[in-house]
Amino acid sequence: MKIDHLGIAVKTIGESIAFWRDALGLENVHTEEVEDQKVRVAMLPIGETNIELLEPTAPDSPVARFIEKRGTGIHHIAVEVDDIRAHLSKLKSEGISLVDEEPRIGAGGCLIAFVHPKSTGGVLMELVEKPAENAGSKE
Ligand code: ZN
Repeated sequence: MKIDHLGIAVKTIGESIAFWRDALGLENVHTEEVEDQKVRVAMLPIGETNIELLEPTAPDSPVARFIEKRGTGIHHIAVEVDDIRAHLSKLKSEGISLVDEEPRIGAGGCLIAFVHPKSTGGVLMELVEKPAENAGSKE
């Protein structure tokens, strides 16, 4: 397993890119709207992982509600796994509380599922399984 990305809730990607890209020097390699989660995401690789900026696209977006309650900042940690369904059923059998019992399609065509913060010590965790065509690229 490895950390695929750190999700950071921002008001707008346009504003926050001034820090992550312009000041820090990361490259924004991918921007995409994920309708299912009502967010626009920007992916900025950093070493073996990525910074994922999450901008809400609607007031009822989970990220909009997060910002309302807790302000901008770290929203979730995403862990890459080989077999997301196997991980979900293992976690479920351990009594871990899941936001998504079935994987959904996330940014970049990945399968994703969230694990509830009440089972992780307060950190929203995302499991990510890369689409098969990318599977060979992680050595
Ligand atoms: Zn994410």
